[in-house]
Amino acid sequence: MLDLKGRVSIYQPEQEGLIFPYEPSFESVEEERRHRKERLVGACRAFAQQGFDYGFAGHLTVRDPERPELYWTNPMAIHFDKVKMSNLILVDHEGNVIEGTHAVNRAGFVLHANVHEAHPDIIAMCHAHTVYGTAYAALGRPIEPITQDACAFFEDHVIIGDEAGAVAVENHAGSNVATAFKGVKAAIHQNHGLLTASRHSIEAAAFWFIALERCCQQQLAIAAAGIPPIYIREDRARYSREHVGSEYIGWLHFQTIWDQLVQDCPDMFD
Ligand SMILES: [Zn+2]
Repeated sequence: MLDLKGRVSIYQPEQEGLIFPYEPSFESVEEERRHRKERLVGACRAFAQQGFDYGFAGHLTVRDPERPELYWTNPMAIHFDKVKMSNLILVDHEGNVIEGTHAVNRAGFVLHANVHEAHPDIIAMCHAHTVYGTAYAALGRPIEPITQDACAFFEDHVIIGDEAGAVAVENHAGSNVATAFKGVKAAIHQNHGLLTASRHSIEAAAFWFIALERCCQQQLAIAAAGIPPIYIREDRARYSREHVGSEYIGWLHFQTIWDQLVQDCPDMFD
């Protein structure tokens, strides 16, 4: 084990007084709620930038800090690029909209509410029908330790074969997904797409989703090359995962995206 000298990560500077993102702390639940909602909007905008939209498919959720049985989510049939503070909705386990004027995506609700309910530690989740993630999901194979970045998912994701390919609008479909989502940050739902979950923040869930989609693209690129890749040794893959695959690291990666969005998309806060 590395001696991190009281730091969360090796990436935190030891030298004091430098500009660097630090995790927030909150004076009130209202402040924390606003923070979570803003980052949820930011995560949706990041998904738009990545081209993760597919009609009304795709949903991101984050628990309310005061009422953790309720989730903030993106409104049904609104493009990720048009999600903003004023059109977010707050939804309960049964899919009732508690706050906000827009409808909820039923499939999104079924999957996310079941996972959230089964795992009280999961704060945030992301799901979308992306090009590479969905294509790779058709293979029913895990992400292999072929790059340092891919090691973030080594022994930290699952393949869910249950209900594969059946559109998840029935409640039991969501509960099967929830069961499989134990102790991992990501799932590849066979013939459907990618899911990520975070016990830390919506920022971490969103970044690991972007990372997982990229891993799927790289896997397919290597498969297309027709040359067998060299695999990273298991012990090294685990070591890399500890350092580049944590919740904190996902959150830290997202800060670059957040800063760019704040500068370029002021309408997020409308
Ligand atoms: Zn879906």
